[in-house]
Amino acid sequence: MKLLDEILQFNNEFVEEKRYEEFTTTKFPNKRMVLLTCMDTRLVELLPRAMNIRNGDVKIVKTAGALVTHPFGSIMRSLLVAVYELQAEEVFIIGHYDCGMSGMKPDSMLESMRKRGKSEEALDTFTYSGVDVREWLKGFDNVEESVVHSVHMVKKHPLMPNDVPVHGLVIEPSTGELKVVVNGYDD
Ligand SMILES: [Zn+2]
Repeated sequence: MKLLDEILQFNNEFVEEKRYEEFTTTKFPNKRMVLLTCMDTRLVELLPRAMNIRNGDVKIVKTAGALVTHPFGSIMRSLLVAVYELQAEEVFIIGHYDCGMSGMKPDSMLESMRKRGKSEEALDTFTYSGVDVREWLKGFDNVEESVVHSVHMVKKHPLMPNDVPVHGLVIEPSTGELKVVVNGYDD
């Protein structure tokens, strides 16, 4: 059975048997926090469990590497929406060790794109639009430094309220252990 069909079949039973009932909550986070973390598979259940977070507790934004790279990109917008519209009062940025974005090599990714049929013209489009594609694809060398950088981007963002603590943490994906790299209450 194909993946989508498998999911839809499961979903039918899920709804029919009212298994959603235990997840009933509102769109406002009980713990008044918004969390930005990585899309890594190992964090899907581990991260919420390791932080004692359940459905309804938190707004979660996910992106490769938990990176905030653009002050007016969709990640920053999500954090602002969480704070202004959805009652989040603190921001948590949580990177993790052994992240796929650590030491990402743009050139090898560009090579994979070529192998999968992306033409030089397609890749050149970026250059013509003034986008440095290598810079755009690049991850980071050190996750702790990267989290500190993202914390500063959010904390110093002109539209972020000054009284919102922005914490920076790194999680170990094999044990769930958290390390604080920026304590947002210290600012
Ligand atoms: Zn990651």
